[in-house]
Amino acid sequence: MEKILIVDDSRLQAMQLKTILDDVYDVTIAQTAKEGLQLTKIGGFSLILLDVVMPGMDGFTLLKKLQEEIITQSVPVILITSLSDVAHEQQGLVLGAVDYITKPFEPLIVKARVNTHIKLYNYRRQVEEQSMIDQLTGVANRRSYERHSAVKWNEAFRLQVPFSIGMLDIDNFKKYNDTFGHPAGDKVIASVAKTVSSYFRWSTDFFARYGGEEFVVLSMGEPAQKMFKHLKKVRQGIEDLHIPHAPSAAQWVTVSIGGVTVVPKEDQPYELMLKIADTMLYDAKRHGRNRVIWGDENLRPLQEK
Ligand code: GH3
Ligand code: MG
Ligand code: MG
Repeated sequence: MEKILIVDDSRLQAMQLKTILDDVYDVTIAQTAKEGLQLTKIGGFSLILLDVVMPGMDGFTLLKKLQEEIITQSVPVILITSLSDVAHEQQGLVLGAVDYITKPFEPLIVKARVNTHIKLYNYRRQVEEQSMIDQLTGVANRRSYERHSAVKWNEAFRLQVPFSIGMLDIDNFKKYNDTFGHPAGDKVIASVAKTVSSYFRWSTDFFARYGGEEFVVLSMGEPAQKMFKHLKKVRQGIEDLHIPHAPSAAQWVTVSIGGVTVVPKEDQPYELMLKIADTMLYDAKRHGRNRVIWGDENLRPLQEK
């Protein structure tokens, strides 16, 4: 059963809505915006029905907060209110509500609109799932990487040219989130992605968000020394963005980079190369972060600093 959240300070109003919907949906009621916000953090709701006028935090404020969080950003919100004037409706829609229903409501209309928006939401999720693009950063996503890596690795093997895998990870990023909040952290992830991708524009390059605050880069044709030099530039490029970090971490946001360049051999599976790149990244972290450690063709580490 699909989950719906009703946020309404009027118990009666909320119960009426629940009665209309709970033969088809799993309906949860929150009586304050704050409680609603808490519940959405767990995720899993396909739609939110939100009352505008509530004591304490009002519906518009909650809507704004939902729009800022990555897990609730795309969940459709229908505002339900007795405010029938155009200005409020406008404000709600500008803030990102998908629809607006005024009280007193017509049960059949509420149901029809809810059904429609849930259908649209599911359709969108399906499209996103099949997509190859990471929503937050606009760069290739993990799924795209999984497909690409196998193809590129085989190609490098066939052509017997150097193949590089690099892993990049933002330094002390948990501290950043803890200090400035998740939405600010998301912006940093997007900036880092944008900058790094500007360094990998060749058709022989591939860059993706691997997950969280971690990225992966693949490149073909360049020897280890050249890649190492290039990645040092990338690392410096991130530092030069001068994004202030949490005071307890470092002055600026930085990344650590680990990688390896090899000419693929018969007995070397791709997974092993990935593991080596990951080990190099781990070493870069261990040696103090904000540095590049790169394995050359003989798996000897080239080390920055
Ligand atoms: P290290 O330098 O060792 O990499 O430390 P770290 O804190 O970056 O590493 P850790 O793996 O402990 O924590 C990664 C943090 O990244 C956890 C989480 O707060 C944050 N994070 C992961 N994915 C996202 C995301 O999509 N958005 C935001 N804002 N933060 C994220
Ligand atoms: Mg990190
Ligand atoms: Mg990490």
